[in-house]
Amino acid sequence: MQEKEMFDLTIIGGGPAGLYSTFYAGMRDLKVKLVEYNKELGGKILFYPEKIIWDVGGMPPTTGRTLINQLVEQATTFNPTICLNEHIVRMVREPDNTYTLFNEQGKAHYTRAVMLASGHGIPVMQKLEIEGADRYEISNLHYTVTQMDIFANKRVLISGGGNAAVDWANELANISKEVVVCHRRDEFGGHEKNVEQMKSVTKIHTPYQIKELHGVGSAIEAVTLAHCDTGEQRQIEVDAVIVNHGMKLDGCFLIEAGLALEEDGFLRVSACMETSQPGIFAAGDVTRHEGKLQLISGAFVEGATAVNGVKQFLDPKADKQAYVSSHNEKFKKKNEQLKQEKQAQLMN
Ligand SMILES: Cc1cc2nc3c(=O)[nH]c(=O)nc-3n(C[C@H](O)[C@H](O)[C@H](O)COP(=O)(O)OP(=O)(O)OC[C@H]3O[C@@H](n4cnc5c(N)ncnc54)[C@H](O)[C@@H]3O)c2cc1C
Repeated sequence: MQEKEMFDLTIIGGGPAGLYSTFYAGMRDLKVKLVEYNKELGGKILFYPEKIIWDVGGMPPTTGRTLINQLVEQATTFNPTICLNEHIVRMVREPDNTYTLFNEQGKAHYTRAVMLASGHGIPVMQKLEIEGADRYEISNLHYTVTQMDIFANKRVLISGGGNAAVDWANELANISKEVVVCHRRDEFGGHEKNVEQMKSVTKIHTPYQIKELHGVGSAIEAVTLAHCDTGEQRQIEVDAVIVNHGMKLDGCFLIEAGLALEEDGFLRVSACMETSQPGIFAAGDVTRHEGKLQLISGAFVEGATAVNGVKQFLDPKADKQAYVSSHNEKFKKKNEQLKQEKQAQLMN
């Protein structure tokens, strides 16, 4: 039988909080493992890879995809163990105060401390509740926009009234032949200015919802919209349909683990990001506290704070935080390597 491999810290969730924490845990000499449900790292940024992010300190406007790549590069600096495609569904505290985490298939991960960087949990897109709709998912029915240019010069119907739907409508209006938006309410979410812009550049149908998809083979060619109160119907021809009806949160194993939650279901944490259970820390969108900053930058700060909490939990004599990177001996060899690479580039 294979021996159990024990890690100092296991981080659940490979979004910005989990990725930055993985790097920082390496700076603190922790043997770290990162477990992510998706087959790809990046967390929520995977929903907006083409959008430009402006508000991360010290980073010029950068696409979501580039930020993910940079976060992953940084996270792998100290060769952590990374497990993808694993949904953690249970945490068990052992008599020796270590934790065993189980994934959906029953595979176990052994760890001395845990960090929950699980954001809003496993997001599941709300799909269209129309029989047979799934057969169009391989062609022109989309639940997220990962590549704008596939909608260039197309007639696009967007169903939904939230932030993302409004954003996509405005961006696609620049490249698509026509953008039509339907929403079951008259009011839209998102910034007032964006909603106003959308109203001026798209055709809006409210309060309407998709009643029927008409297609030949595997592609939708037209859609019937029905008025939510009167049932009155209208048909529009389309080349693509984008549905953004929000997300359902699935698999709330936090409650089962007995962790103290705030009223809205997010984790209550102490100033050093520890949850109500010793040895379980948290960072990023999953936490709530008085000074909460719900931004990627906030997730970074919480991640480093939580890793420092883990370090002191495992070794109460450890320093409160890692030595700054610019003077940290850990990077001496890597800095030499970087200088040499730069010099070689200049010579070429
Ligand atoms: C459309 C949109 C635009 C945004 N724009 C900006 C912006 O411009 N600037 C900004 O600062 N913020 C922005 N945000 C917010 C930002 O994306 C989040 O604050 C950030 O992603 C939070 O990071 P996180 O690591 O805490 O959680 P997440 O990014 O949600 O990552 C959590 C990860 O944990 C995984 N996970 C959850 N449960 C489990 C489990 N049980 N087992 C295994 N894995 C699990 C999930 O699959 C996910 O990958 C935006 C958000 C959205 C939706």
